Amino acid sequence: MDLVPHPPTGPGAAAPADELASLEPPDALVRRYEASGPRYTSYPTVPSWTDAFGPADYAAKLEEAGRAGAEAPLSVYVHVPFCRKLCTYCGCNVVISRNPKEADRYLDQVSRELDLVAVRLGSRAQVSQLHWGGGTPTFLDERQLERLWKLLSGHFQVTADAEVSVELNPAVTSDAQLAQLRQLGFNRLSMGVQDFDPDVQRAINRVQTAEQTQSLLTEARRLGFGGVNFDLIYGLPHQREETWAQTLATVLAMRPDRFAVYAFAYLPEAMVHQRKIPVAAMPSGPSKLALLRQATRAMHEAGYRAIGMDHFALPDDELSVAQGKRTLWRNFQGYTVRSALDVVSFGASAISDLAGAFAQNASDLPDYTRALEEGRLATARGLLLTPDDRRRRALITQLMCNFWVDLGGDGASYFAAELEALRPMEADGLVRLSGTELTVLPLGRFFVRNVAMVFDAHLEEARRRVVFSKTV
Ligand code: SF4
Repeated sequence: MDLVPHPPTGPGAAAPADELASLEPPDALVRRYEASGPRYTSYPTVPSWTDAFGPADYAAKLEEAGRAGAEAPLSVYVHVPFCRKLCTYCGCNVVISRNPKEADRYLDQVSRELDLVAVRLGSRAQVSQLHWGGGTPTFLDERQLERLWKLLSGHFQVTADAEVSVELNPAVTSDAQLAQLRQLGFNRLSMGVQDFDPDVQRAINRVQTAEQTQSLLTEARRLGFGGVNFDLIYGLPHQREETWAQTLATVLAMRPDRFAVYAFAYLPEAMVHQRKIPVAAMPSGPSKLALLRQATRAMHEAGYRAIGMDHFALPDDELSVAQGKRTLWRNFQGYTVRSALDVVSFGASAISDLAGAFAQNASDLPDYTRALEEGRLATARGLLLTPDDRRRRALITQLMCNFWVDLGGDGASYFAAELEALRPMEADGLVRLSGTELTVLPLGRFFVRNVAMVFDAHLEEARRRVVFSKTV
């Protein structure tokens, strides 16, 4: 299904007064819609992908993407998996190390991967979106940062108007690294903050002062970085409304352009390191919800607009502007104003999304390294999307980003079962169905994952494989 941006009129258009309505859903609704479900950073979601999709499939998709030609820009992601120590809440693919030589060896493999990928993409080499994530990209020292940039520049041309972003941990990023990133061409950054309370920080094994964070932000502003994002997490051990209020007041006073406010997915059965968190320190379900409401209200009162499912942005930030025009999009790196670019990713566990397929590299560093040393792409799993997958993906993405979708001319018959399943949500005031248009109403924004789940044809199968986090 093509996604056609509509003018931002009608009940789905974001409006500050409406946002408040989504802050305080009645407890009865929260109980009714409390379920486990995906966050839809992809559709179909990762548990539905298969190891039957391998390097040859990825190579074929790269060649297909290459045929789009030199003028079609790409989005490029590089995963830097190293961290100096492990945060107990971590849900990422990380390698704990204090040895800089490991990063050199890793860059050797990324270099090999770049050679293998670029030759298949042919003339398609323009990049309008580049993101380095991790792990901790600033685990790389200045020489290594420059080397990675040069490796990429050897194959790709970053366009003059490109969005070039990097994830930073203020506790391990020096002013010299920041200056070098800016000089290389980075213009946006995302800082992990999570919570400033000392008890919380001790429990999550991540100590980072407000002063460090403010200092890095001030320096970033001085250097000309825009679109600065802070990540916060609610539902962490020892988080209480009084201390969370303090963290919120501190970060809001710093006035970054954007916030991402994520729920902590506490899954100690699946993640051994999370077992270091005492169960007794975890906020209860209702307390966790109260923390989210508190954060949302504080953001609103400070003038930030709710963006998609879990982001907030100042009204003049490009994400706010794009949501107002219903042109916001979402990829593995988060919300973006550049919709539907093919994403080519490098590094262990990195996920590419191109030519109607997902491809993920081996997550284990030794497996990733071995593949590249043997001259093979390191693809470990992926999925070729069917026409039905593509249609549902476009629909779910539109819902998660812009709270509105036109189901298409045949939508009423194609999605007859889904539309019937939405009737209770319509009766509860969460959505409005009008012709082929489905609008998530302000009260329904809180439950948008539940709305998306109605259209997820793989959900039951995925649930047999993994335990998803709570939707509300
Ligand atoms: S810094 Fe991020 S990636 Fe590294 S251990 Fe902590 S949470 Fe995980």
